[in-house]
Amino acid sequence: SSSSAASNTSSTSAPNGSGEHRIKVLCRVRPFLPHENKDDTIAVNGNSLEISNVRSRAEAYRFSFDACYDALVTQEQLFKRDVQPLIDNVFKGLSTTVFCYGVTGAGKTHTIQGSDREPGIIPRTMRSLFGTKKRSREPMTIRISYMEIYREIVFDLLIPRDTNPASGLAIREDANRNIFVANLTERAVESYPEFERLFKQGRSTASTKLNGNSSRSHAILMVQVEKKEKGKRLCGRVHLIDLAGSEDNRRTENGRDRMAESGAINRSLFVLGQVVEALNTGADSLGGKSMGMMIVNVAPGHEFYQDTINTLNFAKKSKTIVNKTVVNEIHDRPPAQRLAQFGLGKATRTTTS
Ligand code: ADP
Ligand code: MG
Repeated sequence: SSSSAASNTSSTSAPNGSGEHRIKVLCRVRPFLPHENKDDTIAVNGNSLEISNVRSRAEAYRFSFDACYDALVTQEQLFKRDVQPLIDNVFKGLSTTVFCYGVTGAGKTHTIQGSDREPGIIPRTMRSLFGTKKRSREPMTIRISYMEIYREIVFDLLIPRDTNPASGLAIREDANRNIFVANLTERAVESYPEFERLFKQGRSTASTKLNGNSSRSHAILMVQVEKKEKGKRLCGRVHLIDLAGSEDNRRTENGRDRMAESGAINRSLFVLGQVVEALNTGADSLGGKSMGMMIVNVAPGHEFYQDTINTLNFAKKSKTIVNKTVVNEIHDRPPAQRLAQFGLGKATRTTTS
């Protein structure tokens, strides 16, 4: 018999600027790596993932998603089907967030960033945005911010590491309850090659590079697209997030320090989870201008069984959430206030159209 561990609901409505939007939840199962034992713990069936119950092999748990991909999906397919339609909304002044969730080794970085040979969501998104900018008759400005959260400390990755304050940048909330990172660099970028140079430079100053551990920090790329349309200025945002590994504290073998660090990561994840939930339930403090997508990365095989179950249980909760979107129309603000926002905060200068 098969017990349904999650229920599927209808997918997001077409964005019309003011409709209700849920966070879209995708699942991607990566291929087995050469050194891994191939087994049939996980099977993808349509939009569902089935995972055999280790205690009773005849039984499987089924988790349903807006889309579920097995090892064969290409970077290009995933981008075209699921990411491109979301990205296109920034030209309407909407904000969107795409983040990868899963344990270390599940394929988050491969999905969001990829490699030179298999570029992921970030390079594809940026190429798409610069392509549209080039074709556009209206003037358009693309700005980026790039930061990492390591042990709950925020670092600006667009400036040299030693120029960052040791205690990190402050996360603040303004009078209108916008959440923003104080003094985070916001840089206008003209072309894809310019972006690529800045992004690679940023990656090289991340803690991940400095201490050789790629799984303990959140990397957040924020892209702002500003456009003039019929005398209005529209400002859309895309946030592309590579989260720290979601592994459970109990399974961290290292000493206290590592435990504390793992706790900090989990608290950050908890905060992010709350943000996602607030966005989707339209909680007042956060407003409802974002649409988002969570990509749940899963590694195949028995070795990851408990991690996979934990990951899927988290993803299931995020599934039922609803989100309202509005168009952000920006007005001139003093430079001091033009600080990069997470886009997760409440939209103050917002009109619904
Ligand atoms: P994470 O960022 O979640 O820790 P990674 O993205 O680093 O995981 O992936 C772990 C390993 O699996 C890497 O060697 C990566 O190249 C490989 N990998 C992940 N996803 C895929 C995929 N879809 N196809 C091929 N290799 C993948
Ligand atoms: Mg990674």
